[in-house]
Amino acid sequence: MYALGCKHEFDEWQTVVEASCLSIGYRMRSCKKCGEKEYEFLEKLTHEWQKPMILQEATCLETGLQLVYCKLCGTSRVEEIPAMGHEFQEGVCTRCNTPDPDMGLRFADCEGGCEVIAGSKSITNLIIPSMHDGKPVVAIGAEAFLGDTVLQSVVIPESVKLIAAGAFYGCENLTSVEFTVKIGWRKLIQEDEYPEFVDPEAFLDLAAIAEDLKASTGCYWQRYDEE
Ligand SMILES: [Zn+2]
Ligand SMILES: [Zn+2]
Ligand SMILES: [Zn+2]
Repeated sequence: MYALGCKHEFDEWQTVVEASCLSIGYRMRSCKKCGEKEYEFLEKLTHEWQKPMILQEATCLETGLQLVYCKLCGTSRVEEIPAMGHEFQEGVCTRCNTPDPDMGLRFADCEGGCEVIAGSKSITNLIIPSMHDGKPVVAIGAEAFLGDTVLQSVVIPESVKLIAAGAFYGCENLTSVEFTVKIGWRKLIQEDEYPEFVDPEAFLDLAAIAEDLKASTGCYWQRYDEE
């Protein structure tokens, strides 16, 4: 057998080593005339991962673990299942019963922090948090709880300095509004865009504010210590 000058005539390719997910394979063919061999690599296969086997379920806050393995080569690996996060509904998590720190409220950024812009209309006794996403809750926005008839009591934190017009208008069953800070509030009447001070020096009693909050649409309330 002498390769030089041979016009090779090769046989069919023959797989010598099958490719797998873990390693390449190769195949070979040889010349019918001179016997010269030619080799070619066979690309690695991709793993065929099977449906994962849960080792530990994820919870709202904790990650879980799952085992996945390849149908072809048996390679396995353990993967983390991300924590699911709470799913709050009506003030509690439907999975783990943790109370919703936001009490089903919706917030928007505003000057000095954030304001409550809407309630969930599903909470009876609401404690408005003083912080949301690291920002102080400084106001209750206009008509935030408009017509919320589920609401029976509200605790307003010290951080709140402004209760905008109609915030609690039509909350028919609201019987208790508690302010965590015992300080005067004053009522401002909205006239067009510009508020007009009614009696800026007057301290108003808290019970009166509670009553007024339910009935007022055109006024808002500002903490007395705020200019
Ligand atoms: Zn040949
Ligand atoms: Zn594999
Ligand atoms: Zn949860």
